[in-house]
Amino acid sequence: MKVNFFTPTREYLEKKDEFNKAISDVLESGNFIFGSQVSELEEEIKKYTGAKHAVAVASGTDALLISSHALGFKDGDEIITSPFTFLASTSCIAKLNAKPVFVDIDENTFNLDADKIEERITSKTKSILPIHLFSQMADMDKIMDIASKHNLTVLEDAAEAFGMQWGGSINKFRHSGTIGDIGIYSFFPTKTLGGYGDGGMIVTNNDTLAETARMLRVHGASKKYHYDYIGYNSRLDSIQAAVLLVKLKYIDNAIEHRQKVANWYKDRLSDLEYIKLPTIKGNQKPVFYAFNTLVEKRDELNNYLKENEIGTSIYYPIPLHLQKCFNYLGYKKGDFPVAEKLSNKALALPIYPEITENEVDFVCETIRKFYSK
Ligand SMILES: *Cc1c(COP(=O)(O)O)cnc(C)c1O
Repeated sequence: MKVNFFTPTREYLEKKDEFNKAISDVLESGNFIFGSQVSELEEEIKKYTGAKHAVAVASGTDALLISSHALGFKDGDEIITSPFTFLASTSCIAKLNAKPVFVDIDENTFNLDADKIEERITSKTKSILPIHLFSQMADMDKIMDIASKHNLTVLEDAAEAFGMQWGGSINKFRHSGTIGDIGIYSFFPTKTLGGYGDGGMIVTNNDTLAETARMLRVHGASKKYHYDYIGYNSRLDSIQAAVLLVKLKYIDNAIEHRQKVANWYKDRLSDLEYIKLPTIKGNQKPVFYAFNTLVEKRDELNNYLKENEIGTSIYYPIPLHLQKCFNYLGYKKGDFPVAEKLSNKALALPIYPEITENEVDFVCETIRKFYSK
């Protein structure tokens, strides 16, 4: 049995007529840039997440860069973040000549260890950039407390976290991306809300940040051919917005299915001592964008699964402080032991709403077979 790590095809075939109509409506309208679908998607994202503003852009990466720019990251400003993430969470800082300052992660959640933030704060610290990874949010209670105590802004990388909600100590659930000053989602095809190409969204409750982001995505123009800033060309296509509007209608159902698949894995694997399953920390509503495990003999298991035609992914094989492009920051091996250890053990198993219980059975049986060899 072949089990894809991810496939968008099943969902497309299930709702083919709806997707085709949404796309052909755009083709017939001829409005490929800033068609009505883009502003409609912004409205729907506001409704769904409770954010006051939503600004659609060309990718999650651009959403991070534009948000960083809008927050004023520049010239050696220190931004505290995690080394265990996708490159874009840190390149947005470096691109603006600000300085990424890493703190290690929490072994149980893969997210920034909020207890280690304060020791890295200096007079140059400007912001905290938490990333909500795989299935759960970073500890937003602690992060927001530290930010307000030290007068720092917070940029939430919620690229993977669409639909996740943080309840925290006040038990008022708020969506990822809407708790800090500004937050971002990615619509990369694999993401929980994924398009048929690249796309991203900035969300904020701050009027000024929203206005700046709106200008920055169109070359910094306040109105056509009047440039207040040197910005970017970063717009979401009308076609992507149309696809995402269809997907957003079914997002709660998709999130429920992801939870069901996560439960299948837990039922079948929790007795194995060689594999550590995700645990959720804090009062929050998780979304299983990824099912990331920590396993013994990771590379051997990964090869064995590949031989058995099971797709997997390693998030992330090399933490950012050890990447060549960040050599200039002066970090070395051993600086962030938890992130380094998890890089050698992490293995993500296939999870998406359309995966079947039979397929999950096969993945779990194959894992058992490997460890009983
Ligand atoms: C996917 C992802 C991004 C980048 O999003 P793109 O839309 O691919 O540019 C940024 N941060 C994290 C944590 C991601 O997983």
